[in-house]
Amino acid sequence: AHLDRIRKVESEVKAFTLVTDDLALQQAKEADRRIASGENLSPLTGIPIAIKDVICTKDITTTCGSRMLENFKPPYDAAVMERLNAAGIVMVGKTNMDEFAMGSSTEHSAFFPTRNPWDLERAPGGSSGGSAAAVAAGMAMGSYGSDTGGSIRQPGSLCNVLGLKPTYGRVSRYGLVAFASSLDQIGPFARDARDAALLLQAIAGQDARDATSSLEPVSDYSAALSEDIKGMRIGVPQEYWVEGTQPGVVDAVRKNIEQLREMGAEIVDVSLPHTKYGVAAYYIIAPAEASANLARYDGVKYGYSYRDTDDMWEAMEKTRQYGFGPEVKRRIMLGTYALSAGYYDAYYKQAEKVRSLITRDFEQAFEQVDALVSPASPTVAFKIGEISDPYQMYLNDVFTIPANLAGICGISIPGGFSEGLPVGMQLLGNAFAESTILRIADAFE
Ligand code: GLN
Repeated sequence: AHLDRIRKVESEVKAFTLVTDDLALQQAKEADRRIASGENLSPLTGIPIAIKDVICTKDITTTCGSRMLENFKPPYDAAVMERLNAAGIVMVGKTNMDEFAMGSSTEHSAFFPTRNPWDLERAPGGSSGGSAAAVAAGMAMGSYGSDTGGSIRQPGSLCNVLGLKPTYGRVSRYGLVAFASSLDQIGPFARDARDAALLLQAIAGQDARDATSSLEPVSDYSAALSEDIKGMRIGVPQEYWVEGTQPGVVDAVRKNIEQLREMGAEIVDVSLPHTKYGVAAYYIIAPAEASANLARYDGVKYGYSYRDTDDMWEAMEKTRQYGFGPEVKRRIMLGTYALSAGYYDAYYKQAEKVRSLITRDFEQAFEQVDALVSPASPTVAFKIGEISDPYQMYLNDVFTIPANLAGICGISIPGGFSEGLPVGMQLLGNAFAESTILRIADAFE
């Protein structure tokens, strides 16, 4: 049924860089066999899932939305893929994304933009726009994306599906093509909180191959869902109601907060005073890490390689000139500059100090409340081509970036409509408090 749906709507939505229909049918058969024999069943056995093209899939192209990796077939599976394959998922395809996950609209894909299923003229958000659109359009029951500064929560918000960014270290990054290693985290898109709990459960847990993966025991996420939210304390960060947020978004989220109050939650005002420096700090730290991570694309080890010269330096230079798109080059230049001798103290070190202050803001807030609530994105889905100024694009993540800097978890859930387009509500939870935000999400639905 999902492959039929893909055949029907994919030519318009363009959520996939690759539809793996043969593999899906083969995996579905295998799932049928497992279900019939009752062996090794997981809640995900036989479930059609789409995977963002930043997650390595053995012998299956993993493009990262880039010419650089257009023909790259990883010789190994990401840790997340090992777990999903063991669970017996049916992979329907790899999803489109902004090149190397840099962007908020999926327009920076080197191949084509993905369209928002709610309005095909509009962007699905990004960078995991393909994964969000695939679920929103019924082409997969769930999907996975990556979130470095909002790339799961913002497209979830614009496409009216749940998007969960786990706590940093909850999910192994082994086999996730690196963008900014201290911020990147894989997480699910789902139609509801119950699905999101199952999709997170399947990938959470320690992995020795990722040195930053946490030893913290994994909770039973589905078990937490049956409880109501009476008496829970939910904080409204005052700094998240800034100028520039569309009034329709503010109205919808304010209404949702009233609903949470009616459901028995105690709503309290909290302050996260360093919020306003979040985007600036992120655009030093993320490009700095990206510039180091992307140094590996030299045309020698893997990926695109310019061969029309005998000169080594020219080969490397042209490989990167033709292999990377403009946004990726912008990030590499920003990051290289911020890390260069003489500038390190002024930019990178300063940004890391801001990061500590933002982390402390959250620590103090979570002494008073169980979760925080805000809009997930300042706007509803914008038109493809509407935002040409990179700085304007960066502001899409003003509400999502602080959680990545602090390493805490966050979820975006459908929170109503403004002028016919979906609005997302964001819930932020303390480190390893995924159960708490899933419980609120489930109660709210
Ligand atoms: N939009 C942000 C950026 O471009 C975040 C992207 C992401 O989370 N991968 O960096």
